[in-house]
Amino acid sequence: MQIDLHSHSIFSDGTLTPEDLLARAATRGVKTLALTDHDETGGLAAARRAADAHGIQLVNGVEVSVTWSGSTVHIVGLNVDVENAGLQAGLAQVRAGRDERARGIAHALEDIGIGGAYEGARQFAKNPDIIGRTHFARFLVERKIVKDTSEAFKRFLLGGQPAWVPHQWAALEDAVRWITGSGGIAVVAHPGRYKFDNAQMRTLFGEFKALGGTAIEVVSGGHTPHQYQIFADYAQEFGLLASSGSDFHSPDESRCDLGGCPNLPAGCEPVWSAFIH
Ligand code: AMP
Ligand code: MN
Ligand code: MN
Ligand code: MN
Repeated sequence: MQIDLHSHSIFSDGTLTPEDLLARAATRGVKTLALTDHDETGGLAAARRAADAHGIQLVNGVEVSVTWSGSTVHIVGLNVDVENAGLQAGLAQVRAGRDERARGIAHALEDIGIGGAYEGARQFAKNPDIIGRTHFARFLVERKIVKDTSEAFKRFLLGGQPAWVPHQWAALEDAVRWITGSGGIAVVAHPGRYKFDNAQMRTLFGEFKALGGTAIEVVSGGHTPHQYQIFADYAQEFGLLASSGSDFHSPDESRCDLGGCPNLPAGCEPVWSAFIH
């Protein structure tokens, strides 16, 4: 796919600078890339300069952390106006909760005999405002407590594991409003990652659509091929458009490289028809 609408840089939990991310996208033949850092748009200015140099169309993006019905859901905003005050105030509010959560995760690790995790994770977080679980996962790899970040999540960081710390993120309606209020398009990110049954998934898509949401990430690096069709069907049922993104974080960790996702299933209405030339 020459279009990739979900990726991360060191401005959140990716490992590449925006410059290196765009260089990699160019090498891989990506023509349109959205940089969608978690709760943060700080990487977009550098990404735009690099995109211009490589002749890549950059889509200004962000991935907002949301708590919906007691679970974490991610909402990607595409084509947002980074200068918009409402969007930036909202994102600042989401970021503000992260440090306390990070200290909570570090305490929980300390309780099971793993010390120094806050400082350790902090070193992997190039942006001190966004210390996330991925940074703790990298710390646990570095300490040789786990062999890779995936094992770190399974053994320590996912719900029900010893370093799981519940956290209240943004409300769905706020996240959608921040995105659409800045002229952007709201997309439910990687719905296949959520542990929802059919009824919950329908409620989510129904509420999201009613709030002004536009699309579902049908093809994602976090989805199995079987899930592409499942979410293509949901998109059609709810009159939502289909998005596609690798959710690339790092050359060493990603299941799907930049531009590495397959085409949308037949019959999907691509979200990008509105803003990609
Ligand atoms: P946070 O926003 O701090 O809760 O971290 C969420 C991030 O953790 C996601 O954006 C992914 O990058 C990463 N992540 C979540 N679940 C997993 C998993 N099972 N394996 C590897 N990385 C994961
Ligand atoms: Mn991430
Ligand atoms: Mn996500
Ligand atoms: Mn992501």
